[in-house]
Amino acid sequence: MHEMSITQGIIELCLEHAGSRRVRSLDVEIGELGSVVPEAIEFCFEACSRETLLEGALLTIIRIPGRGLCQECGKETPLAELYGSCEQCGSNRVVITAGEELRVREIEVDD
Ligand SMILES: [Zn+2]
Repeated sequence: MHEMSITQGIIELCLEHAGSRRVRSLDVEIGELGSVVPEAIEFCFEACSRETLLEGALLTIIRIPGRGLCQECGKETPLAELYGSCEQCGSNRVVITAGEELRVREIEVDD
């Protein structure tokens, strides 16, 4: 279950930023084209944050929809899957520009 190590990474990052302060909330961006399951992150967070400064913190997951830039017609296109095709011309030569995110956007700590 790779969500466990991803969640550990998120928690370590937050602890680093928080110093010794308690983390009240965190916003995590997860791209829809990635293989990460948000529900699994939520589940792991609950377990991994126990007895840390993140215990009880409010985790908000922000889904980032997939987008790509078509190399054929040069237009931006929404992508529903990793190897999706261009909505405009049907080409498969699409470079992904969004949807693979996995990052902490914001954390809120106690003063
Ligand atoms: Zn196209």
